[in-house]
Amino acid sequence: MNYNDNNIFAKILRNEIPCQKIYEDDYILSFYDINPQKKIHALVIPRGKYVNLDDFSSNASAEEIIGLIKGINIVAKKLGISIHNGKGYRALANVGEDGGQEVPHLHFHLFGGEKIGKMVE
Ligand code: AMP
Repeated sequence: MNYNDNNIFAKILRNEIPCQKIYEDDYILSFYDINPQKKIHALVIPRGKYVNLDDFSSNASAEEIIGLIKGINIVAKKLGISIHNGKGYRALANVGEDGGQEVPHLHFHLFGGEKIGKMVE
């Protein structure tokens, strides 16, 4: 899978364009979506160059996979929407063309802060 270094999230990771940062560590960066679809709409992306979830699952190291999954939980807690300190949320990854993925760097959307509603339209 060819990774395009010019995608917008790659530029955010390189600090070439700004983001509203929520959290970062060695494995992930999290920031608010620029066009929020729900009261809380955060994005969680791995630091590594992975096009989508299939690329990540096939090619990321165990450490990176653990880092991303644990990172989602850290961010949810930070936002007060985790099961530990809030009312829950929806984590969603669009994959490829039929999945409706627009930015070709793996990202999870975290929606919360209100009832998220129907799973798919
Ligand atoms: P997807 O359709 O799953 O690829 O989602 C891409 C998401 O990235 C959309 O929800 C956009 O609103 C969001 N997005 C695009 N550019 C930016 C940006 N510069 N900062 C934050 N979010 C962005």
